[in-house]
Amino acid sequence: MAQKNTGKLLATQGYVVGIEISGSGSRQSVALADLNGNILRQARRPLEYVPDTTTVLAILEEMLAEVVQPEQLKDGRLLRVGVAIGGLVDASQGIVRTLHHAHGWDNFPLQDYFEKKFAIPCIIDNNANAAALAEVQYGRGKGERNVLYVGLGRGIGGGLVVNGHIYHGSSCTAGEIGHMLVKENGPRCSCGMAGHLEAIASARAIVRAMIGLSVEYPETEAAISRVTGARAERITVAQVFQLALDGDPVARYVVNDVHTYLGIALTNIVHLVNPDMIILGGPVAQVGSLLIEPLRAKVQELCLPAAFEALHIVQSGLGSEANLMGAVTLALQDM
Ligand SMILES: [Zn+2]
Repeated sequence: MAQKNTGKLLATQGYVVGIEISGSGSRQSVALADLNGNILRQARRPLEYVPDTTTVLAILEEMLAEVVQPEQLKDGRLLRVGVAIGGLVDASQGIVRTLHHAHGWDNFPLQDYFEKKFAIPCIIDNNANAAALAEVQYGRGKGERNVLYVGLGRGIGGGLVVNGHIYHGSSCTAGEIGHMLVKENGPRCSCGMAGHLEAIASARAIVRAMIGLSVEYPETEAAISRVTGARAERITVAQVFQLALDGDPVARYVVNDVHTYLGIALTNIVHLVNPDMIILGGPVAQVGSLLIEPLRAKVQELCLPAAFEALHIVQSGLGSEANLMGAVTLALQDM
């Protein structure tokens, strides 16, 4: 019997490429995946500095050459490229609007750039949007319809999946929850305004607050010096949460602010969107239950019971792979 052409491709008939560019451009990764979303090869090149656009594209080119070798593509060909970017992206036009933590990306036609390079379709989107989609397809949000993904890294990104699709809003800025105003006259944000969530609960904000406030507390300074080997500027978010757990008053204050203001932001979103699940990802979420448990209690305290009862607040299952997996998922989504 002749095989009926259903229009669906078999997993062996092709491959996709996923590319991740972080909000500072200093972390990029590239993956080759099959059509079931299995990553077959990947490369990662974190830098210690914020590179310019040309440098990022040159590094990506090297990694692409490494990951996409002709012998890797045994019996198929490349079909799509997906790119997840840590900044404002106009997904419908395929343009990077801006990266808040790097220069030279304003209105950069990245979709066009990769389509010319590979001569295949390319899909670009914000990294939190991409990660949200990956979580719904392959991660903790599997089977859920309405999911908010929160990426807590150097900045804070949000990706909202509504009825199984990324919700972009009218000018592709939906989900920019790092810039939600949560504290009037609060600390200054990377966007220039004050009191935004990112200025309190991002990895950078947590570390800055900890170092800044410790100046007036010799015992805290000594504790920081002890856990960092006298290199206070290297303190990590995990160390701040651990110091809070150990009872350091400054660390407890900083961590309490994270729970409070992240809790306020999430509660406001819950009342607007009524999601099934909120998934916390990125480096700050890697502290696990030290973040999630008090945060869940805070949201429960602030939320209408009817909005909280069906809500799950969980840690990302994809972890540090969420954005790269998001890029792969973008490439796969319309095939
Ligand atoms: Zn902001």
